[in-house]
Amino acid sequence: MIPFLDIKAINEPFEIAFQEKLKDFLATGWYILGDEVKAFEVEFAAYCESTYCVGVGNGLDAIILTFKAYIEMGYLQEGDEIIVPANTYIASILGILHAGLVPVLVEPNINTYNINPKAIEEKITAKTKGMLIVHLYGQLAPMDEIMEIGYKHNLLIVEDAAQAHGLQFKGSHARTFSFYPGKNLGCLGDGGAVVTNDEKLAKTIKSLSNYGSQQKYYNDYLGFNSRLDELQAAFLRIKLPHLNAENDKRRIIAKRYLSEIKNDKIILPFQEGSDNHVFHLFVIRTPKRDELQQYLSENGIQTMIHYPIAPHKQKAMKDYHHLSFPITEQIHREVLSLPMSSVLKEGEVTHIIKILNAY
Ligand SMILES: *Cc1c(COP(=O)(O)O)cnc(C)c1O
Repeated sequence: MIPFLDIKAINEPFEIAFQEKLKDFLATGWYILGDEVKAFEVEFAAYCESTYCVGVGNGLDAIILTFKAYIEMGYLQEGDEIIVPANTYIASILGILHAGLVPVLVEPNINTYNINPKAIEEKITAKTKGMLIVHLYGQLAPMDEIMEIGYKHNLLIVEDAAQAHGLQFKGSHARTFSFYPGKNLGCLGDGGAVVTNDEKLAKTIKSLSNYGSQQKYYNDYLGFNSRLDELQAAFLRIKLPHLNAENDKRRIIAKRYLSEIKNDKIILPFQEGSDNHVFHLFVIRTPKRDELQQYLSENGIQTMIHYPIAPHKQKAMKDYHHLSFPITEQIHREVLSLPMSSVLKEGEVTHIIKILNAY
């Protein structure tokens, strides 16, 4: 069986370095917010060509804390509306809700699966104060058009870059990341970060993530406990220098899939530009999705569905059940994710292409 994603194999080249780091870590006796988190924050900000990075507990908290910080800073008020793609992982929407804001869902472009900028403006009201833009599956959303709409309506623009480590885009107010093990840059547990050029935002998020405190036992805000773990930061520092090479391997595999899969029943992902995709996932589409998944499984290929149920159809999202997002719903019915990672072997890619072309 070709696994959908072999995380153990991805981490194997780093195992000795991880073990040495663990030994040093035990010797320091300092387990929370130490030198590793500090160094990772500096290194990841530089990697993102940005000024500040704040490590936090996970990708969902990165979104919540960013919006909570904007509330503390007086830029947002509870009840303000935030534009967000209807076609995303539910975490994007939960991040807005848990900050006390109102997610306003917008349909995607059927070809790219990312938010359709032409569908944004009709959703903007007097209460709209920001946008959370997702680079779904690792493809950059159409940021030029999005930024223009943002400037025109004076909106805060936050990117949910949980699937897009390595995409370089400058201009938004903040970018949130997840280091969940399966992401392009994953740690050995939970982790997340916010990257920004805004010093006040970075300081407020840092404080909110640590009990609302900048100085120990002095609490400026009603804060949270959502810190990037010191050991996870140490592991991430070992992996970060290899991220570009790993993303390049994903791109090489994607290029083969795109040029060698030839089957009228299968719709390949559409790339809007060049160099705008880090292929967190390689997602194909077909009307008989479940049948194709079964066929691939019978031929030794494990696939996944990202995602089977649209956020507005989830049991947890009762207030959104009456809304209709036909393009989002169609995508959720038809998508299938092929194996994709930096450790997928050439022969495995060849086999997957051969089996798909014979379907
Ligand atoms: C993974 C993911 C998140 C949440 O990250 P966690 O670290 O699991 O909390 C948020 N948004 C998107 C688009 C994601 O893929």
